[in-house]
Amino acid sequence: MKLSPEEFSAAVLDWFDRHGRKNLPWQQDISAYRVWVSEIMLQQTQVSTVIPYFNRFMQSFPTVSDLAAAPVDEVLHLWTGLGYYARARNLHKCARIVAAEFDAEFPRTVQQLSELPGIGRSTAGAICSIAYGGATAILDGNVKRVLARFHAVSGWPGKSDVLKQLWHHAETYTPQRRNGDYTQAMMDLGATICTRGKPACGICPLNTACAGFARGKPTDYPGKKPKKALPVRQVQMLMLRNPAGEMLLQQRPPQGIWGGLWSFPELGAEQSTEQYCLAQGLQCAETERWDSYRHTFSHFHLDITPVLLQLQREPERVMAAGQALWYNVRQPQALGLAAPVKRLLEKLAELEPIA
Ligand code: SF4
Repeated sequence: MKLSPEEFSAAVLDWFDRHGRKNLPWQQDISAYRVWVSEIMLQQTQVSTVIPYFNRFMQSFPTVSDLAAAPVDEVLHLWTGLGYYARARNLHKCARIVAAEFDAEFPRTVQQLSELPGIGRSTAGAICSIAYGGATAILDGNVKRVLARFHAVSGWPGKSDVLKQLWHHAETYTPQRRNGDYTQAMMDLGATICTRGKPACGICPLNTACAGFARGKPTDYPGKKPKKALPVRQVQMLMLRNPAGEMLLQQRPPQGIWGGLWSFPELGAEQSTEQYCLAQGLQCAETERWDSYRHTFSHFHLDITPVLLQLQREPERVMAAGQALWYNVRQPQALGLAAPVKRLLEKLAELEPIA
């Protein structure tokens, strides 16, 4: 059985009216700002993880002007744990542009929105559709999956011809009426019914016409990213503790992994901590070497060995390059921390005797 575009969107909207989630925080008090923040947070991240982050974010920055006025450190702090920190830096950059150049009002066209930092075609489409009621298409990860399965598209959506095909389907089904609801419905259908690992085809409103379901193995679609063995890098993370029990943190450069976040100084796996201390003019002794563990990025594995170094006395200066500070593990500051660093600081706080 085939569905016309009208039948497709009607089936999705009917399902949404009866079963879709309508109580998600970003579905209340809808505005371009709230839709935008939720869309950026939801990239690569599940709804249940995003909800508390979104709520904290909105409490701290209720408007785009509040976000624009905040220091980037505060934004990164609220992002700590969500990963893909370039999203947070772009969010902040974009807020500043919207506040300064658009009088704190998000533009209303996909074209203008797509020119802002961190806003791609799909996010721009979602803002226009949900916040402004425009008949614009979206193609986030959930929607890609639904459409790829519905049409049994076997290529990997990272390839431009496959992506083009999926955008064509997305635009074909986008209705003129109730487009905001349809957009939310498609995202919800992908997140709750047509899930990555176990699609619930039996209760899906599209099952009578879904090619992926008809072929018996919907999870074959879309095609997977070609596998490449990830390279492994090894580092020692130096947890330098001063006599007051505070830990040395350095701000990483804005570009590269964990850009702009605060982290421990690092050494290559083969380098000597003793020589490092000598070179930095630090009087310190290695007290503990913790078990190594792996943190995986999209393009490499990082094997981290945390090393605890106790300074005999506070140095006159801390590190030549970059910003550095002493961090009190018992009174955490509002800083953007890389997730592994945050975990290590929490562990150090457990070890630190209460004064
Ligand atoms: S029938 Fe199954 S595979 Fe097809 S769209 Fe629905 S949940 Fe996804």
